[in-house]
Amino acid sequence: MEVVSGKGARRCVCRLSDLRRRLLEQARVPRRHEECSLSNYHPASDNPSQVLAFRQAYRLIREYPAIERGLLFVGPVGVGKTHLAVAILRGLIEKGVPGLFCEYGSLLKEIQDSYNPVSLISETSVLAPVYEAEVLVLDELGASRPTEWVLDTMTQIIGRRYNDKKLTIFTTNYLDEGQSPGVETLQDRIGARLRSRLYEMCGTVLIEGEDYRRRLNGFN
Ligand code: ADP
Repeated sequence: MEVVSGKGARRCVCRLSDLRRRLLEQARVPRRHEECSLSNYHPASDNPSQVLAFRQAYRLIREYPAIERGLLFVGPVGVGKTHLAVAILRGLIEKGVPGLFCEYGSLLKEIQDSYNPVSLISETSVLAPVYEAEVLVLDELGASRPTEWVLDTMTQIIGRRYNDKKLTIFTTNYLDEGQSPGVETLQDRIGARLRSRLYEMCGTVLIEGEDYRRRLNGFN
């Protein structure tokens, strides 16, 4: 505790930063993305979709917990969807809100690996944190081949979070429409039921543009 003159005692700043450090570790953000924050996201000034995406992320952090729906960042590879999703997680952790980062394919693999053929269920140690995370980032939605098992598992996870009114932030490279024939849509990858549920759970934020790494390295 520390004493603030004229105001009384409060939790010391050093304890708060300890708490945030612990929450960041528990969020399991991959090292590749661990530096992502709103302060180092640079929307291209001639790209309104990136400016809007930044504003949506900023607003969610500012208004949480008075937030009804999460966000679904949609767009091609390298436009900063994961960057913004992690920035939200980080911004909320700054406010003391715990969260968890999961990559879609890795999560499914972990669930599959923990499946017990005797009890016919997957380890609760894998699923419980995903169900219970106050804020969940599910990165690369639709990246795994949509087998019946994948769709059932995801419907169960997302449905449970929906029922519990827990905030989920998704990213995906699959667009809803406007694709050339033969190119899969998000619905093709996650099924109509799940796509419909996401409309209720999240606002869709379309980010356009070229791969940031390409932009950075001057391959224009
Ligand atoms: P996506 O999830 O859309 O495929 P990422 O968020 O993984 O793309 O972005 C790829 C890399 O480019 C990351 O290192 C990310 O931090 C960086 N990046 C992307 N967009 C921006 C941006 N507008 N400002 C700063 N860094 C960015």
